[in-house]
Amino acid sequence: MSYPSITINTKYLTENAETMVRLCGSAGISVMAIGKACCGDISVARALTAAGVKWLGDSRLQNLMTFKKAGIDKPLCLLRLPMLSEVSQLVSVADISLVSEMATAQALSQAAVSQGVVHKIILMVDLGDLREGLLPDDVLPAARFMADLPGIELHGIGVNFACYGCVMPSYQKLEQLVGLANDIRLATGLSLPVVSGGNSASVFLVPNKIPVGITQLRLGESILLGRETVYRNPVPGCHLDAFTLSCEIIELKEKPSVPDGELCTDAFGNPPSFVDKGIRRRAILGIGRQDVIVDGLIPFDHGADILGASSDHLIMDVTDVARPLEVGSVLKFNVQYSALLTSMQSSYVNKIYL
Ligand SMILES: *Cc1c(COP(=O)(O)O)cnc(C)c1O
Repeated sequence: MSYPSITINTKYLTENAETMVRLCGSAGISVMAIGKACCGDISVARALTAAGVKWLGDSRLQNLMTFKKAGIDKPLCLLRLPMLSEVSQLVSVADISLVSEMATAQALSQAAVSQGVVHKIILMVDLGDLREGLLPDDVLPAARFMADLPGIELHGIGVNFACYGCVMPSYQKLEQLVGLANDIRLATGLSLPVVSGGNSASVFLVPNKIPVGITQLRLGESILLGRETVYRNPVPGCHLDAFTLSCEIIELKEKPSVPDGELCTDAFGNPPSFVDKGIRRRAILGIGRQDVIVDGLIPFDHGADILGASSDHLIMDVTDVARPLEVGSVLKFNVQYSALLTSMQSSYVNKIYL
């Protein structure tokens, strides 16, 4: 075994996705599974698509290409708004895109026509979070425009919450989305099967507080880590430990808790801040900020405290850890989204599949 390593329990991932499919299904909602925090990992994609989700989404075209090459047999959706420079490749790989710009829709139309395919668009609406999307007043004209484009099927509308503006999804806001979808149906005669009510932040509304007419949620974190993302409550039946990071102790010594000497800034230019707790037992682990966002790590061991990290070293206070530790001992961590994203991306972190 070599460290650091992240253990990926693919069975738990499938079970989590199944739980979300069941929960959402009880409210008439289909699930788009999103493994984008795992950087195009094909085993994760297979685990998610084994669970009866209807679509697979990712924010990066490269990852969708990986899935397509690997023969994933679900419709693929690009989550990040397409770059004009990638539309040609995009329509050859993905079935659906989220779009908020007429120019992009037009470029997709041209690419789809020239490749002889029909590309589906989910028109994004901004209901306050101030990331992507048309403001509500601009939705109907844009929908009319997109509905008329050759090679394009206006497949639905969608919204995103709690990403940039920290705006919570609510019954009222999602009802507004359903209303806009109905306006578009009336204006265009399209069936508009997809009304996409957001990401894992919308899960706390399911099943009883989400309006009828929402037909899709795009779920990443809640499937991967088992929690909805507004209150961070576990989703009943989901595993919270599908991913575990393991790191090895490379130094273990009793040292003072306050540095000795005139202080400057740390390796990242941050000013010093230390609390004097006297002599403490400190472990250095062989992982660092080049591999993982350290704030997103939660030690398994009761009493273990993360003090800080430089690029390649994670420094911990293990004075209060009850079990015996020595150089070579392994400490395990639960990962939050930031730590999952970074450790899956680091080529220095071994990936172990269960
Ligand atoms: C990442 C992303 C999602 C999934 O978000 P989670 O919080 O991980 O569920 C959904 N929609 C879009 C547009 C995204 O970029």
